[in-house]
Amino acid sequence: MKLGIIGLGLIGGSLGLALRSRDHYVLGVSRQEQTCTLARQKGIVHEASVDFSRLAQAEVIFICTPIEAILPTVQQLQPILSSETILTDVGSVKAPIVETVTPLWSNFIGGHPMTGTAQQGIAAAQSGLFSGTRYILTPTEETPSQAQTTVTEIVQSLDTEVMTCSPVTHDQAVALISHLPVFVSSTLIAACRQEQDAEVLNLAQTLASSGFRDTTRVGGGNPELGVMMAKYNKQAVQQALLTYRQQLDSLMSVIEEENWDQLEMMLGETQGARSRFL
Ligand code: NAP
Repeated sequence: MKLGIIGLGLIGGSLGLALRSRDHYVLGVSRQEQTCTLARQKGIVHEASVDFSRLAQAEVIFICTPIEAILPTVQQLQPILSSETILTDVGSVKAPIVETVTPLWSNFIGGHPMTGTAQQGIAAAQSGLFSGTRYILTPTEETPSQAQTTVTEIVQSLDTEVMTCSPVTHDQAVALISHLPVFVSSTLIAACRQEQDAEVLNLAQTLASSGFRDTTRVGGGNPELGVMMAKYNKQAVQQALLTYRQQLDSLMSVIEEENWDQLEMMLGETQGARSRFL
């Protein structure tokens, strides 16, 4: 098929490499000319340009820009495309995108590849990024079945397991397992930084090892991503943080009361539950 990708960064670039390996003809569009040159040189796409009109021939277009650029991108595409062109996006938040894009382009289905790295930009693109991962599609009652079938077939061919759910359900689930951990992890680092005794702080920084590395990894990442999560998934993130605060309050009460049996039970429950998430 002739496929388009807009936003040749980590996800868009990796998608280009993967789609090319499945013998699709890939047309790329990105914001910067130098990114397009790099995309051609690295064989990420067959053609690359900053000009959206080059995508007029694409049968399916994957919008892989940052979240805030997805809606403006659809608005720019509207006058260029035929109504048969299927649009999909890869944004990490779904409800606000699906709600705003669907009225502009009915032949649209929201998507979210459950993959990534801490890197950004086209230099970070890698061919195997999608292989063996889950890819969420968020159809609504208005989504044309042909759009869903076509996008499903394309992403399944990249060795992904396709799952479907509503945009709101998706946002609530990722708030719990993806967005909440970022904020928990960053506030853990912030709490440690509050230590007023310089000797204690220095020793803590020297002693911090694998446990601290594991629990703070996602909180030490790109700040822009965290802002996007809170901004575009505000309600679900707030609900998740509220639930987390309640858990912290319970924990503090149990320790204050020296209720060690209760504490052991709580920790035993979380020990058993962890495997159901991983
Ligand atoms: P990224 O590496 O920064 O890539 C995005 C690329 O889009 C940039 O390199 C930029 O390329 C281009 N771009 C920016 N504004 C544009 C515009 N207005 N028009 C055309 N191209 C534009 O980001 P990413 O991590 O790939 O994320 C892209 C999308 O994937 C986001 O919506 C994110 O929510 C989603 N996502 C990310 C991950 C992850 O782990 N990173 C996982 C799943 C989904 P130029 O060099 O041309 O400026």
